Amino acid sequence: MKIAVLPGDGIGTEIVAQAVKVLEALRSDGLKIELEYAHIGGAGYDAAGDPFPAATEKLVLASDAALLGAVGGYQYDTLPRELRPEKGLLRIRKTLNAFANLRPAMVYPELVNASSLKPELVSGLDIMILRELTGDIYFGQPRGIRTLENGERQGFDTMHYSESEIRRVAHVGFQIAMKRNKKMCSVDKANVLDTSMFWREIVTDVAKEYPLVELSHMYVDNAAMQLVRAPKQFDVILTGNIFGDILSDEASMLTGSIGMLPSASLDANNKGLYEPCHGSAPDIAGKDIANPLATILSVAMMMRYTFAREDIAQRIEAAVRKVLQQGLRTGDIYEPGMQKIGTIAMGDAVVAAL
Ligand code: NAD
Repeated sequence: MKIAVLPGDGIGTEIVAQAVKVLEALRSDGLKIELEYAHIGGAGYDAAGDPFPAATEKLVLASDAALLGAVGGYQYDTLPRELRPEKGLLRIRKTLNAFANLRPAMVYPELVNASSLKPELVSGLDIMILRELTGDIYFGQPRGIRTLENGERQGFDTMHYSESEIRRVAHVGFQIAMKRNKKMCSVDKANVLDTSMFWREIVTDVAKEYPLVELSHMYVDNAAMQLVRAPKQFDVILTGNIFGDILSDEASMLTGSIGMLPSASLDANNKGLYEPCHGSAPDIAGKDIANPLATILSVAMMMRYTFAREDIAQRIEAAVRKVLQQGLRTGDIYEPGMQKIGTIAMGDAVVAAL
């Protein structure tokens, strides 16, 4: 298991250090894990003048999986767009051709009160959002700011999805649904957008190969509403890049804290990029208070999807649950009566539970 470790910026270094402890514990149990570090984001800019340095690109291409912390920081906000930390994220996803972004939104029984929704609405919630990650309006050309003939300036972007892009992500969605409750809801805006009409047509066609999966379609505005009205109606949600960006953040809040949410971004061969859903949290960086569980749970996803080791994935997830059952909490998921601990202590507790 050759893993590129990319801590990035802000709390990235602190939380990745805890996930690495978990990997090292697994290695001392006999797993053949090879870790190699590289810079990304602001750290890449500081080290090599580039948010995705050539050395990092070379390493991730030679690795089976990459574990990323987070990127971004106030000090980089004034850089030109090409040099901003977030550009490093877009480039690594594109380089890895990581088109399938899996974001589970799960509510742990111990954290049910951390959600902003009523406990009965979210208790037992377990949704998988599959967001297409390398196409759509975020990458479409042409884009820019132009001056029209009448002299007025105009901003513009281009939304498009090719058939192959839709097919491959739909297959991933149906395959995930087959391993879960065999229900998939494809989210689009087919009442307004031609791209979405085409998306719906292709997803419906791919569905013929998965007769056991119950496919439904929903407009994105309704999906945004249903996610906070009755989120447990969903099993797998399949959607495009921009809708998925927004809906997965919305779904993350159902679970209480963004500090609990892992993600995986996979290519066609299950090679992947694993990272927590949150950012670099510069407001709490360096204080030993960030929650490392999203990053540790991302390692569990890595074991499940890239290395096909469901047993180890479950072992890591069980260790996280045990720590929560013990009443240990970082500040973001703390409630009275629990024991508040820091980032490092949380990492140690998971390793002990493992
Ligand atoms: P953020 O996710 O970094 O933080 C949002 C809020 O959640 C903050 O109050 C933060 O303290 C808290 N938070 C986040 N992760 C936490 C954790 N593990 N434990 C406890 N609390 C946590 O989002 P933001 O503040 O909008 O952005 C900060 C920087 O991160 C920006 O530069 C942004 O561009 C970048 N960013 C990076 C990624 C990424 O690397 N994937 C994603 C989103 C934002």
